[in-house]
Amino acid sequence: MSNDVQPGGVDFHCHLDLYPDFDAVIARAEAARIYTLTVTTTPKAWPRNHELTHHTRYVRAALGLHPQLVAERAGELVLWEHYLPEARYIGEVGLDAGPRFYKSLDAQKQVFRTVLERCADVGGKILTVHSVRCVPTVLEMIESHFPQDRGFVVLHWFTGTKSEARRAAALGCYFSVNAEMIRSDRGQALVSELPLSRIITETDGPFTKIDNKLAEPASIQTTIDAIAHVRKAPNDLIAKAILCNFRALIDANI
Ligand code: MN
Repeated sequence: MSNDVQPGGVDFHCHLDLYPDFDAVIARAEAARIYTLTVTTTPKAWPRNHELTHHTRYVRAALGLHPQLVAERAGELVLWEHYLPEARYIGEVGLDAGPRFYKSLDAQKQVFRTVLERCADVGGKILTVHSVRCVPTVLEMIESHFPQDRGFVVLHWFTGTKSEARRAAALGCYFSVNAEMIRSDRGQALVSELPLSRIITETDGPFTKIDNKLAEPASIQTTIDAIAHVRKAPNDLIAKAILCNFRALIDANI
């Protein structure tokens, strides 16, 4: 990642393998010079995601086991552990206590605890974490099982309260913010108060839309602009802060 051309931004949580044309969306992220983290929902997807991204300049893959899939796929935790030495970035992982997934919450907690413990054992990993309707438990588990000097947590599409956000920040967490979050008054209030030094951007594409099209890394400028608007700050200042936060995160020597 050299500095001879100006990067275009950061998309720290998207699912490029769920677009109709995986290769084309990678190529557009590269062309737009967007530092992109493409997450996986099952460790079975890791080999192909890693293969298609590890030689690119701007795109990297993350090794995941999505909480919404744990009901059927908890047994794949063994495979997740198998690939762990190959992966610096981990996700999508976390907890989902929404009505459709509540039944598997105990299994999700067992999986997430193992993920946190293994990552803490090895050190140096960066996790992108889902916390739907479960923020206090996610934060408790991070506090108990993932010491701050063992790696980093980025809370993806965070929907907790302002006080939960303060607690997360005190635990060292970053927040990846997407355009959809900023469409509600509550989301705007939250994003206006997050510590600027902990904010990065994401699309969570293809699960969000920008200008009525599937959001993708190359459309991240809309999200930067929306954060700037909510925080009443110049767009270029926010763009620079996000790149600076991203570098602090990935260059940290832990
Ligand atoms: Mn996601």
